[in-house]
Amino acid sequence: MEYKIALAGNPNVGKTSLYNRITHSFEHVGNWHGVTVSDASKKIVYNGRAITVTDLPGFYSMTVYSFEEAISRDNVLYGKNDVIIDVCEVNNLARNLYLALQLIEADVKVVLAINMIDELHKRGLGLDAQRLEASLNLPVVSVSAKYSSNINLLMDAAIKRAECGQAMTDLKYLNKLPLKKVLPLVASNAAEIGISPTYAAIKVLENDEYVISELKLPQHILDSIRAMGDMQSLVARARYDFIEELTRDIVTPLKDYSEQTAAKSKNKRRFFRYSTEKNAQNKVSTQLSSDAKKNVKAGAIRNYGKEISVINSRFGFSRLDKIVLNKYLALPIFFAVMGIIFFITFGFFGNALSNGIEYLIRSFIYRPAVSGLTEIGAPVYLVGLFGEGIIKGVGGVLVFLPQIILLFLFLALLEDSGYVSRVAFMTDGLFRKIGLSGRSVFTMLMGFGCSATAVLTARGLEDDRMRKKTVLFTPFMSCSARLPVYTAIISAFFIRFRPLIIFGLYVLGVVVAVILAAIFEKIRKLKSGKPSFIMEMPPYRFPTAERVLQILWSNAKTFIVKVGTVVFALNVIVWILSNFSLKAGFIDGESNAESLLESLSSVIAPVFAPLGFGDWRAVTALLSGLAAKETVISTVQSLGGVGELFAGSNAGINALTFSVFTLLYVPCVATLSAMNREIGLRWTAFGFLLQMLTAYAVALAIRLICLFFVHYTSVGVGIILIVLIASAFTAAISLISKRRRACSGGCEVCNGGCHNGR
Ligand code: GDP
Ligand code: MG
Repeated sequence: MEYKIALAGNPNVGKTSLYNRITHSFEHVGNWHGVTVSDASKKIVYNGRAITVTDLPGFYSMTVYSFEEAISRDNVLYGKNDVIIDVCEVNNLARNLYLALQLIEADVKVVLAINMIDELHKRGLGLDAQRLEASLNLPVVSVSAKYSSNINLLMDAAIKRAECGQAMTDLKYLNKLPLKKVLPLVASNAAEIGISPTYAAIKVLENDEYVISELKLPQHILDSIRAMGDMQSLVARARYDFIEELTRDIVTPLKDYSEQTAAKSKNKRRFFRYSTEKNAQNKVSTQLSSDAKKNVKAGAIRNYGKEISVINSRFGFSRLDKIVLNKYLALPIFFAVMGIIFFITFGFFGNALSNGIEYLIRSFIYRPAVSGLTEIGAPVYLVGLFGEGIIKGVGGVLVFLPQIILLFLFLALLEDSGYVSRVAFMTDGLFRKIGLSGRSVFTMLMGFGCSATAVLTARGLEDDRMRKKTVLFTPFMSCSARLPVYTAIISAFFIRFRPLIIFGLYVLGVVVAVILAAIFEKIRKLKSGKPSFIMEMPPYRFPTAERVLQILWSNAKTFIVKVGTVVFALNVIVWILSNFSLKAGFIDGESNAESLLESLSSVIAPVFAPLGFGDWRAVTALLSGLAAKETVISTVQSLGGVGELFAGSNAGINALTFSVFTLLYVPCVATLSAMNREIGLRWTAFGFLLQMLTAYAVALAIRLICLFFVHYTSVGVGIILIVLIASAFTAAISLISKRRRACSGGCEVCNGGCHNGR
């Protein structure tokens, strides 16, 4: 007999941890909401039964607002699972049960796993699972994914549930809803699309867009249902009232818990009681506008999708949060943390590790291989292909491995400790305006280190378009491989202004990304979806070594596989192109024949003439930069050096344009392959074109502006002055008119006492 079991539940309740326990797999788990983006499945054999276990992305309600939540909803409704294990977190039971009730309404076979029971036990408390079981008429098992306790019990319960017939739980709060009226109107349409009529009726009452569109109800039926009034709040309140009854006194002190230990954790327990015993709506401590608070309190998840409310899932805001989320300290702390990570990863320590790997590859692989091949009399081109093409090429990327591991180590630590969610929260408002989210900020910052690795970290983003956009814009952040290119080129022409110009290039990358994001947000097809309403604020936890190692291993593996396939193949291609000629075949050191790469570059070169570097050597450098950006400068140097490539009139401006182009064009094939992995081939192709065209357009614009200023300095200064004065004027006028408008309402603005933010 084969069974299908899916793990569903809110984000951060430990689904992936439980999935790992059940399957012993090494799927990446993390606090970052939505790490499990596409559902992971694994087949196991348990007690002689073959079971496919699926780990679903987290979701709060069957009415969904994001791409990944929809994955979960569809899997629950149409995934033909024999059992859904609804993972609840013991500390957030009320909110978790809100989803559980909807699963029961949808008539799927549910087993409740109440996870993190260890945290409850630590506080000397226990949970009356049996009472819950009796009230809901379904199996309830307390488990701890962390300590692997009761996993077998859970599996036994799930199998039993799969094997016995469906026993629809009688949810008594349903009596409070006008289902009798709605059921006959939707029943036949619901049967057609294969969902439970009761569920369809409730969702129609809740105005769930998806179910309504799937049911294809005639307009007059919809109108008559809408005429019933605000059913959404009624449904939410009915569920919450029921949950309150379910969870009342469900947490009880453990009998064998000594008084002494109890006293120690008295404080924590007080908070805990608050969070489980109070009405679920009140428990939700929103931290944003009072409007958001009102909405949540009203019991309705009505503004679900519009407001981001922060639910602090544990004991109120911790003391650490008072510092970390402090108005004045939050940003400095964030930059300090990022600074330290960058300093360690890309500074001395990371570089030393990279140099170490380079040394090992050179002395233990490259040299022995080249001398071995020469000794056995292999042809020169074969020695070249192996030595220069493959070993040096692949090695050149492999040296990034320590930095990548370090970056992911820090990310794993930050993610698992709960800090990533806090950063996402802090920056969310700002980023939403341009269609990105607070979670994009991490990916983008990592982009300053290495675009390819950074792109991989976008996986946790909640909205599909947002994720795609983050992946598309991250490569505009100037990765560390680009720095040597600017340093060499800018030093040759503008040594006095070097730091300023290089800093300017970094800023330019960010500005271009922000402008593009804003433009994309204006295009309807590319606009990001509604944000999912809740941003989970998990408590601070100590990351366990096991989990961190898992994350490191899975990322290192991805990188090594990439190096072993894409990078390997590309290096072979680039090496052959640059060492073979159409006429002369293999070009050994002495011959001056034109290599295939040179021929190709000469064909493309005229395209770059308007940018001031229509020279085949510059184009060859850019092309070789596709393998890895550092190669741009090594190629320039081997083809005659910066001075020779950028000579003649406007040499400085041409060199600057070249640097701008290097900043903005496609970072490297490794990034392209990472993009392909994350957003698919079509979007990667789009990203490629976007980066090329943007690089060209921006470089051209900057070149033209520079040329204009050099040749018409006084006119240029005049224009700047006019623009500055005009914008100061406009700003002043709009400020004055805004004040006027505010005052006409008769509020107290004029006395300096405006209250309503007007
Ligand atoms: P998911 O989002 O539901 O997949 O949750 P994860 O499996 O990623 O876990 C979220 C966090 O909860 C991680 O920091 C886990 O270490 C932690 N966690 C998971 N299960 C338990 C548990 O049984 N006890 C405790 N104390 N922590 C747990
Ligand atoms: Mg997960």
